Amino acid sequence: MPQLSTRIRTLNSGGSDGWEVFYRARQMVAAGTRVIELTIGEHDIRTHPLILDHMHERARAGHTGYASVPGIKALRETLAQRVEAQTGVPTKADNVVITAGGQAALFAAHIAVCQPGDTALHIDPYYATYPGTIRGASAKPVAIATRARDAFLPDPAEVARLAKETGARSLLINTPNNPTGTVYPRATLEGLAGVCIENDLWLISDEVYDTQIWEGEHLSPRALPGMQDRTLVIGSMSKSHAMTGSRVGWIVGPVEVIKHLIDLSTNTNYGVPGYIQDAAVFALNQGAWLQDEVAEPFRRRRALALDILAAQNTVTAIPSQGAMYVMLDIRATGLSGRDFAEALLDARHIAVMPGESFGNSAAGHIRVALTVDDALLAQALRELCAFAETLAEKAQHDT
Ligand code: PMP
Repeated sequence: MPQLSTRIRTLNSGGSDGWEVFYRARQMVAAGTRVIELTIGEHDIRTHPLILDHMHERARAGHTGYASVPGIKALRETLAQRVEAQTGVPTKADNVVITAGGQAALFAAHIAVCQPGDTALHIDPYYATYPGTIRGASAKPVAIATRARDAFLPDPAEVARLAKETGARSLLINTPNNPTGTVYPRATLEGLAGVCIENDLWLISDEVYDTQIWEGEHLSPRALPGMQDRTLVIGSMSKSHAMTGSRVGWIVGPVEVIKHLIDLSTNTNYGVPGYIQDAAVFALNQGAWLQDEVAEPFRRRRALALDILAAQNTVTAIPSQGAMYVMLDIRATGLSGRDFAEALLDARHIAVMPGESFGNSAAGHIRVALTVDDALLAQALRELCAFAETLAEKAQHDT
């Protein structure tokens, strides 16, 4: 076989992709073992039947041919109006390109702003695909460490230091954050915006969880002074409307960048299915009730989780303010996040994600997805805490 490209061979940096516990849990389920899966960021409800009915109708009406490559006008306009209403930043359809989910948007955004070999900064802990996405765009991912005691918020001074040291081209941030649930406050975003302006960085702002805020408020950094011309916002229907399988996402940015991204789209996926885009317009036009209905279980379960965790003191929760996860500090057990997750799966048949799957900063932590029904979640968390307590007692005894 002729040699493969370095780009494809090094996509996962030769290391693990961090999903081992998830795959092992799926294997156990396939072999008939009952496992409580708190791993992947996917709702336990499916896409609303009204959205599916509309999708079906539009497909039956013939919208099954090639759709407009930049995205259908109605969807680009609907999104532009929505973004303008939420942020106050003037936004037109020309500022929007539709992509195959937020994931393709992240890749396209880095392709648009990074030269091969450029450094692309991102914050650690991070959504597991970030480094591979950046490497896929032939750029060099550099993770910026954060600390659990700062709720994993980035320190703008540290970002500035690394931006200067590496001569970085871009900074990728994510608020509300996966995996930590942290929502960046205005002061952090203003600090980061200042760093971007001072160091002439592109800001890629992943806001796919912007409808899932439990505390504080979501601020899109594109709305900060001087940021409109250097920010690419990543959005998606996946989390807000439980449409993960529909693969509808977008980038909002300067018209000039969007033009180039349309060229990229022409030469890659050639658009997103028209009847699915029609369904996305329909879903967005439902207004708040539908996205509130999708978000509500996570709001409820996050409160439930914090109540259960407050009743013991071995496992500590990072103050989750948004998104569908809670991040737990299990360092009192003496184990790494990975060893704890492996042991929990074996001993209690509960699957969680090791913090290390999301970068070094989250070592000694685990991420719990709030994606099973309330009673099962409560049971799993109580068992998890009891398990952690046994390990912590043993660790103390051994030292
Ligand atoms: N960004 C973050 C932070 C995510 O958690 C995800 C999915 N888990 C994505 C982007 C991509 O989502 P999608 O491609 O389904 O829009």
